[in-house]
Amino acid sequence: MLHLRKKEYPMTTLTTDTSATTLKSLNPATGEVVGEVPITPISEIGNIIGNAKAALPNWRNLGVKERAETLRPFAKVLLDNVDELAPLLTKEMGKPLPEARGEIESCANRLGETLDELIDALDAEVLDDGKVTSTIYHDPFGVCAAITPWNFPLAMPHWGVIPALAAGNTVVLKPSEDTPLIAQAYFDLLIGLLPTDVLQIIHGDDEQGKALVNSDVDLIVFTGSRDAGKHILGSASDGLKRVILELGGKDPLIVLDDADIDAAAKFAAGSSFRNAGQVCVSTERIYVDKKIADQFETALIKYTNQQKLGDGFEEGVTVGPMINDRQREHVINQIDEAVRQGAKVLAGGGEHPDHFVNPTVLSDLNHNHDIMCAETFGPVACVAKFSTDDEAIELANDSPYGLGAAVFGTDLDRAANVARQIQSGMIGINKGCGGASGSPWVGAKQSGFGYHSGKEGHRQFTQARVVSKMK
Ligand code: NAD
Repeated sequence: MLHLRKKEYPMTTLTTDTSATTLKSLNPATGEVVGEVPITPISEIGNIIGNAKAALPNWRNLGVKERAETLRPFAKVLLDNVDELAPLLTKEMGKPLPEARGEIESCANRLGETLDELIDALDAEVLDDGKVTSTIYHDPFGVCAAITPWNFPLAMPHWGVIPALAAGNTVVLKPSEDTPLIAQAYFDLLIGLLPTDVLQIIHGDDEQGKALVNSDVDLIVFTGSRDAGKHILGSASDGLKRVILELGGKDPLIVLDDADIDAAAKFAAGSSFRNAGQVCVSTERIYVDKKIADQFETALIKYTNQQKLGDGFEEGVTVGPMINDRQREHVINQIDEAVRQGAKVLAGGGEHPDHFVNPTVLSDLNHNHDIMCAETFGPVACVAKFSTDDEAIELANDSPYGLGAAVFGTDLDRAANVARQIQSGMIGINKGCGGASGSPWVGAKQSGFGYHSGKEGHRQFTQARVVSKMK
């Protein structure tokens, strides 16, 4: 049983609507039904927005410090419930149980620091040039729609909802139709700390998402695919609604000829196969210098063969199922197309078990292969070779995406020079792309529009207002 600190709350259920249907959540490893939630009728969304607007003045007037203190105990609430939340997350999304636990614990453990950053970013600032004194306020926009994907089904709602709330917005969360139960459990815990209607949830698929975007919201915080992001940007243009879009990626890894080959191969396997490759910053393209390619591929095969495919509840499993059949078919089609067009299978491939894709290494790839161009979101490590650093940079940048990237090389000046020329928002040298505490999470090119975290990211959840007077 979840230890819900739920208050009596008028859920957005379908009790009064006879056309109500439910959303069934399936275990991606078995296809079995995990549970179901009521789908929010489109006709209810106007009322939900009305409730969010009514709750806004009191929440906004609390100020950022008091709102942060309201949210701070949520870290303990998450930790107190991790034993119930983690299995639900694995059952509904498929990732190995220790990773599910890690996702929840990381949200809890970082919450205090995030709230401190938010206070620092959003507190009023005073500027004085000797003649004029100005106070810069960071006010909430109003009602925020947070629309989230399934691949980190607790962290993604958390990531949208917490800064939006701390900034003083009221929030309507629309989680993925593939993972409604864990989002509902998260919501049920969080509303226990909040005044009525400051946070509400609606369930459904893109129809509910589109209706929410088209409703009278002031800010849309979206994490998901590039296509949906483009659609949302178009829809938001009518009222010039504010948007923050964190979208897909096709992250390159460049392995220079002086790289620590074993470390690079270990990173490549980890970053290609984590969460069955269903991570926005998975390594999706590996460019390795021809001079070291054979050694690199041998090491990559070794690390690939150490992966264990299976149900996320099985001991030692590192690669779980694909989220659904559509995603599985997309990945297998990309592998098959690459092989038909001359790619070599160095590991994996073959017959993929129902619900799963074998961790696979493909080599001899180029940009005529769809798998080197379109987002894969599956457990495939894709290797292409280059001759010069300039060629590697050109290949890495030959993509509409620009989320993360990594460069491996022992000459750090040379690696940094390559990194500076990559058109991604976040680039790691001999590591993944995530930055130090306080860094933004930012996609360049078609991987993002606006961004999260860091002082500037937090401020994107607010409207700046300047009030000035003569000295
Ligand atoms: P998706 O775009 O299909 O769906 C995401 C959410 O948007 C779901 O809740 C869905 O119901 C809703 N939705 C879909 N179309 C919509 C529309 N036109 N208007 C309003 N709402 C709409 O994405 P997904 O399959 O759930 O998630 C995978 C994608 O998310 C990948 O592309 C991945 O790279 C991306 N992602 C990006 C980041 C990041 O930080 N940049 C993080 C996680 C996932």
